[in-house]
Amino acid sequence: MNTHYQIVVLGAGESGVGAAILAKKNRISVFVSDNGRISNNYKDVLINNEIDFEELGHSEEIIMQAQEVIKSPGIPDDIPIVRILAKNEIPIISEIEFAARSTNAKLIMITGSNGKTTTTLLIFHLLKTAGLNVGVAGNLGESFAKQVANYDYDYYVLEISSFQLDGMFNTKANIAVLLNITPDHLDRYDFNFKRYAESKFKIFQNQSKEDALIFNIDDEIIASRISEGNIPSQLYPISLKENNINQGAYLNNNEIEIIDNKTSINMTLEQLALQGKHNVYNSMAAGVAAKLMDIRKETLKQCLSDFHNVAHRLEYVSSVHGIRFINDSKATNVNATWYALEYYEKPIIWIAGGQDKGNDYSILMDIVKSKVKAIVCLGENNVPIHDAFGNIVDIIVDTNNTLDAVRKAYELASKDDVVLLSPSCASFDLFENYEDRGNQFKIAVKEL
Ligand code: ADP
Repeated sequence: MNTHYQIVVLGAGESGVGAAILAKKNRISVFVSDNGRISNNYKDVLINNEIDFEELGHSEEIIMQAQEVIKSPGIPDDIPIVRILAKNEIPIISEIEFAARSTNAKLIMITGSNGKTTTTLLIFHLLKTAGLNVGVAGNLGESFAKQVANYDYDYYVLEISSFQLDGMFNTKANIAVLLNITPDHLDRYDFNFKRYAESKFKIFQNQSKEDALIFNIDDEIIASRISEGNIPSQLYPISLKENNINQGAYLNNNEIEIIDNKTSINMTLEQLALQGKHNVYNSMAAGVAAKLMDIRKETLKQCLSDFHNVAHRLEYVSSVHGIRFINDSKATNVNATWYALEYYEKPIIWIAGGQDKGNDYSILMDIVKSKVKAIVCLGENNVPIHDAFGNIVDIIVDTNNTLDAVRKAYELASKDDVVLLSPSCASFDLFENYEDRGNQFKIAVKEL
């Protein structure tokens, strides 16, 4: 076996395998290394494409000879092999950076602490309905690199996480969307919020005056960075609070107004498919992006009103004896939960907890006090929830599986109450991932 490769890919998941396929297609010698066991379907892909790989460990002697390393977003910076690479100044990039080199497609990139998937899919829905030759990738679905290798799209809508941004240096978004910056994943940023925010700001790096930055000006962290200046991009603020905006989107009484220097488009809040305050930002951001792409007004309005959101985000499951069950399993941080609690009027039985990423629950205090009747903890370690809310919510019960959690919540609820699974935490303590948690929740509700 060769021991000298131009590129080494760390991690053989969707993004790593995609990057290897693209490297192979571009005749760049590539080696894939995974510290764990590679799943059989990805192993088959590597074998079929004649890509060399290893699993259950990293061979330093091979990896250290690479000219460049593509690191999968799930791999933290502090594992030994990444530290050694950094010390030896071997460039480490993300799959997005690598793939962007091989396409001339226009790139629309979406980041934020919450709302990325929703907004990415909404923009994709808009562009696809308008008949554009467009792909969707990033943190969801088939990897960007694999699509660049296999298709010839004119546009890509890309969901970009902060981990992907960390490995991006020369990539440029033709349209960048920055939704919000609130604490999340701080365990990967030395519990330093500033570092996490800096990573998000990379979404508009390399932009020039031909490019657009759509951003949430109601977010203090973003607003403060924008006011510092030094951003050559065309700026398109979106806001629910300000209305002195002449390009971007804002709320005018009960209507959103999407405006550029030529024309404006109005829609009432009721016309929007996505409900809830947080989703108004998402609809605004998508609407502005679509307008910048010259999508017809009729198509734009139609798409913002007929979009079906993906599961596990404020997903209505069913009503049992007048009690509504909502699956918001994707709420893996405190801010997402705030918007979920904000959206419902009724007394709420809140199912919360899981793997804590360094949560600060203080922003939830007021809303929990005014709306939450009882908390059902669903986690291996529920102490942080008790510590945070023990003094303000009378009933807090512990469970460690969805069946018990749903039964307890049902017992505690009265007619017209809402049972809301919105954990504020990651799911890996008890579940495979947030989808597994949400699916188990839905099954448990159906069994009531
Ligand atoms: P991401 O891909 O960034 O995790 P999702 O669209 O999957 O975002 O939504 C994740 C969670 O955040 C869901 O609970 C959803 O209801 C909530 N959410 C969606 N958009 C926003 C937003 N703009 N601000 C705050 N929370 C949001």
